Amino acid sequence: SDTVRLLSSSQVITSVVNVLKELMENSLDAGALSIDVKLENYGLDRIEVRDNGQGIKAADTPVMAMRHFTSKISSHEDLQHLETYGFRGEALGSICAVAEVAVTTKTVEDDISTQYTLNFKGEIVSQKPSHLGQGTTVSVLKLFKNLPVRRQYYSSTKKCKEELKKVQDLLMAYAIIKPDLRLSLVHNKISLDGFFPKPGADYSSTSSSSPDKTFIFVNNRPVHHKDIMKLLRQHYAAQYPDDAARNRYPTLMLKVNVSPSSVDVNLTPDKTQVLLHDKEAVLTAVEALLVSLYGYRPS
Ligand code: ADP
Ligand code: MG
Repeated sequence: SDTVRLLSSSQVITSVVNVLKELMENSLDAGALSIDVKLENYGLDRIEVRDNGQGIKAADTPVMAMRHFTSKISSHEDLQHLETYGFRGEALGSICAVAEVAVTTKTVEDDISTQYTLNFKGEIVSQKPSHLGQGTTVSVLKLFKNLPVRRQYYSSTKKCKEELKKVQDLLMAYAIIKPDLRLSLVHNKISLDGFFPKPGADYSSTSSSSPDKTFIFVNNRPVHHKDIMKLLRQHYAAQYPDDAARNRYPTLMLKVNVSPSSVDVNLTPDKTQVLLHDKEAVLTAVEALLVSLYGYRPS
């Protein structure tokens, strides 16, 4: 029923940042080398992600936002060597249930792009020719229009600013892990480009009092991992006790690459929590790296 659809979708799609993460990952899965993000009213009125990826095949467009449709895996074995962020076919359909969605897309085979307007159930209700080049643009209007309590919650000035900060951090995370990627962010036509760190920059001189500049990636996926985070902080603090005492941390990044079959990314709908089957081995390796970096050995 519509109520069940709304409820389950509201669990998959929880915030502006969450929508943006799903759209960006779809763009990256499509091989995009350029992604332009536009937000209006902190994303509550419009979130738009334009990419230059491979586009969506005409045959797939009627089902693109159907629950569990994915073009990314076709067999159970594919799950063992997954190289895409997405594979569950949940995001696009869920976004349709909590916002107004339009998808414009063009593949190499298509002569021109087509803009599709989708309804609550992810069905195409209208389509028209468009002028965009190869790739896909997804526009998400009036997020949570049918979840007024949640929309209200995200509408406070304080919450809006917090969320915009998270958007910037999310983009920065992808900019770090995909150095070839061209990224831009426009909010209410004000460009927030230029906060991406450059390799070799001295972060310590620019470090803010914000404690959330640590990026952890597992198989290129930005994740939260308490134990790894704790290790990074502990070792940094041993080297720079004054900074740590003031809760000042530079941008720290750690990439963990493990076999896809030894990590479970399905713990939470937004896939930011991971379960490492061989956690102790990973922590030992991280520790060894930190010892070589900072020279501190915990007793
Ligand atoms: P998943 O990413 O798990 O496959 P989604 O619901 O996020 O599921 O997307 C559904 C499908 O829509 C994808 O499998 C893909 O075929 C298509 N799609 C969505 N966004 C894009 C995009 N930016 N470029 C190309 N295809 C896309
Ligand atoms: Mg996806």
